[in-house]
Amino acid sequence: MVRRTIEILALIAFVMITSLLILNYATPASPAEPFPDKEALTEARHYLKLDDETVQCQICPRKCVIEEGQRGTCRNRKNIEGKLYSLVYARPCALNIDPVEKLPLFHVCPGGMRLNLATASCNLKCRNCQNWYLSQRAPEEVESQSLSPEQVVGLALGSDLKLISFTYTEPTVGYEYMYDIAKLAEERGIMMLLNTNGFINPKPLRELLQYVDAVNIDIKGFSEEFYATNCSGELEPVLRSAMIVKEELKHLEIVNLIIPTLNDDISQIREMCLWIKENLGEDVPLHFTRFFPAYKLTKLPPTSIDTLEKARETAIGVGLKYVYIGNVPGHKADNTYCPGCGEKLIGRLGLTLTENNVKGGKCIFCGLKIPGIWNQK
Ligand code: SF4
Repeated sequence: MVRRTIEILALIAFVMITSLLILNYATPASPAEPFPDKEALTEARHYLKLDDETVQCQICPRKCVIEEGQRGTCRNRKNIEGKLYSLVYARPCALNIDPVEKLPLFHVCPGGMRLNLATASCNLKCRNCQNWYLSQRAPEEVESQSLSPEQVVGLALGSDLKLISFTYTEPTVGYEYMYDIAKLAEERGIMMLLNTNGFINPKPLRELLQYVDAVNIDIKGFSEEFYATNCSGELEPVLRSAMIVKEELKHLEIVNLIIPTLNDDISQIREMCLWIKENLGEDVPLHFTRFFPAYKLTKLPPTSIDTLEKARETAIGVGLKYVYIGNVPGHKADNTYCPGCGEKLIGRLGLTLTENNVKGGKCIFCGLKIPGIWNQK
């Protein structure tokens, strides 16, 4: 009874915090400020000039061919007189302060607070998107603020925050802004965290990773069919990005949102876990998160706790060592357990840390080294 009451209170707190933070800065918007003149826009990185008037964006696997005056699929990169420009540089549509646990990154500075930003739009079209009112809109359709990379980093330092992250929408399509913030953050001793769909090409990803400390990649389902029908995307580039993050020796965590009837087949989940173990390693934290009806999938029910627990058992069964259940505040799989001695290492209740038994990157009970970044710069 007591446990149940704690769970309900934690859930209420979780929903309230989430709603407040998002509503505070990301209300579905009135028309934004008009774009500045071409001279004041930032030229895109990573594109090819195909002829005097046509360009091809090289940021993500879509490789949009964009005629003069047109935009790419994400709607925030525009060809103006044969040059490609970002329409979201220094125009964040969400800005707030969140616990790092919310990203989720459970093995990075537990309990740390981060300055969090998002820019409008995305290069995927997930039917379940929780943030569709930001991600599935063009830049001029959402309210945004004017904030240069210097101002973002200054804001973090002024608020004594040592972590900056991009989340809610897809940072890949606001590449130039994210890159400049990451570079500046690194110079000023601030850690850079990314929450990404991983749908990005290798060259821009590797360039960006020079200045990034930790990455959380969504593997949204483990079949090309799921990606094609639910996200208008592809799985293979996402898996390639996860491998690149490991190759570049950056901390990586994986999120898999389980949607009833669409990607909850346990044999496919097992296949994904085996792939993670073989290609990323058994130490990579994996978060199975609970789906709630949203956007174009309002008729499906929330994921059952039973399904999430079966997925976790499957992952542990194939040998993954750190497997979490997310969006179920109060669930014991929100905690980190030591794979060496089984003791609780990090206790969590919703977004609140209740205990931390990792000291100097090791379990205080048995001394096992725990993967992650445990101290701020
Ligand atoms: S980032 Fe946008 S414009 Fe560039 S290839 Fe991807 S969808 Fe197209």
